[in-house]
Amino acid sequence: MKNINIAVDGPAGAGKSTISRAVAKKLGFIYVDTGAMYRACALYAIENGLEIRYTDAGQRIYLCGRDVSERIREPDVSIGASDIATIPQVRIKLVELQRELARGNNVIMDGRDIGTYVLPDADVKIFLTASVEERARRRFDELKAKAVQTDFEQVRRDMQYRDKNDSEREFAPLRRAEDAVLIDTTELDFDAAVEAVLGAVASSQKRKDMK
Ligand code: C5P
Repeated sequence: MKNINIAVDGPAGAGKSTISRAVAKKLGFIYVDTGAMYRACALYAIENGLEIRYTDAGQRIYLCGRDVSERIREPDVSIGASDIATIPQVRIKLVELQRELARGNNVIMDGRDIGTYVLPDADVKIFLTASVEERARRRFDELKAKAVQTDFEQVRRDMQYRDKNDSEREFAPLRRAEDAVLIDTTELDFDAAVEAVLGAVASSQKRKDMK
């Protein structure tokens, strides 16, 4: 039987990763965090103090077997990821990997271009959003809990920078797919947001069963 694919897109801080992780657990799906892939590429560039150049022949990127799961969430890597994500050659390489994962597994995959570009035929598409104030507040609390030095204004500026960069880039920008269900989490707590996503998954399955 064909694997089921759920696409979740939206701006930074809308709750995509925490909500997708919870939904994946409930459904027994794999959660694919595509942002981590762009972050890992950015960290590689930062740590090697080099500007990565991509020729027509492309370039391969490895991250030396080191666990960088925490490090890639820090603010310099967030900005670096958003910058590196504008390079088409980087995206093409990562999208290949993302599509392969979706072919072989039931997945809930989050990112910016999953419903529009990576998995245009996904079974369910969700666009998660929230006000910029609320998204910045959540990200600020997250960083504070991890004892990362930062201030609220800086977090909000970084978020606005990424929103603009992600939605205005030429190749596969952040956009709501026409057939994506829009969920605004500004006023929703975590459990309500998870329920809203599960509800969207259930109703789209029902629509399919009726066909
Ligand atoms: O989702 P997350 O905030 O971890 O993503 C980090 C950055 O990676 C984003 O700001 C965006 O520029 C980029 N990204 C992307 N396409 C994806 C996932 C992430 O361009 N599918």
